[in-house]
Amino acid sequence: MRPLPVPAHTARDTYSLCISRIRDDSLRQRLADFEDAVVEADAVFGMAVRATSVHTLDPAAFVPDAREDHVELLKNYTQRLARVAAPARPIYDELKTAPPRCPLCDHREVTTLDHHLPKSSFSLLAVAPANLIPACSDCNKTKGDTAPGCAEEETLHPYFDDLGDVQWLGAVVAEQVPTFLTFFVNTPPIWDGLLAARVRHHFDILGLGALYGAQASTFVGGLQGSARRQHAVGGAGAVRDFLEDLACSWKEGETMSPNHWTPVTLQALATSDWFCSTGCLGS
Ligand SMILES: [Zn+2]
Repeated sequence: MRPLPVPAHTARDTYSLCISRIRDDSLRQRLADFEDAVVEADAVFGMAVRATSVHTLDPAAFVPDAREDHVELLKNYTQRLARVAAPARPIYDELKTAPPRCPLCDHREVTTLDHHLPKSSFSLLAVAPANLIPACSDCNKTKGDTAPGCAEEETLHPYFDDLGDVQWLGAVVAEQVPTFLTFFVNTPPIWDGLLAARVRHHFDILGLGALYGAQASTFVGGLQGSARRQHAVGGAGAVRDFLEDLACSWKEGETMSPNHWTPVTLQALATSDWFCSTGCLGS
C-alpha cells in the first residue's frame, strides 16, 4: 500500500546479466534466444498492470513451449538473480532495499522479492524487475502463486498504483477495557468502484486488518501511562490534544504515510470521547 518508483533496471538488462555467466555455450545461447520474448512479455505485462487487465493475460503466452526452457527461466531467478554471488544479485539487492519496509503491508521488514505474477505460471517474467516487488515473507507467502481471476482481484502494485495522500484507512475504537481497534478500508469519494474493490481485496487477502489491530493493541497499552498523566492534568481535552499532537508528529515523519496504522490509531483514539474521558484510565 506504499508506492515505489519503477525500477531503473530494464527486463533486457536484468535478463542479459542473469545469463551472462552460464558456462555452457549452447545453454547460454538457447536462453539468449528468449531475450526478445522476455522484453515483449515485460512490455505486455506493464501495459496490463496500468490498465488493470492483468487478469486477462493468458499464462500460456508467458511460458516457453519446452518444459526444459521453462525450468531454465525459473533458474534465472533462483540461481542467477537471487542466489548470493549470482551475476544479477546486485539488482536483487537493489530492488530489495529500495523501501524502508514492505510496501504491500506497509509494516513488516522486507525479506524477499515477491513475483506480482507467479513465476511458475509466467516464467518469461521470472526476472523482469517490474514483476519483482520487495516484500515481507508474510505477504509473499500469503499471496502465494495465485494470479487474479478478475480486475477486482488485482492486488495493488507499488510501481504502478499510487493512492496518493488521500486517507483511506479507517479504525474504530472498541469501548471496552482492554480496548482494541478494528481497521477497515474507508473508501474516499474520489475513488471509482474498481479501485475501491481492489484496495479492499488487497486489504483482505493480506490480512491487514488483523495485522494492524494486533499492532494497535500493543501500541495503545504503551500509551496509556502517558494518557493517564495527561488526564490527571487536564481531563479529556488534554488527552485528545496529546493524541492529536502525536498523530501529527507521526504523519510528519519522513517515511510515514497518512494510512500507516500508527497515525490512524492515534486519530481514532483522539476522536473517541469514551477513550479520552474514561478508556485511557484503564481498569
Ligand atoms: Zn508485507
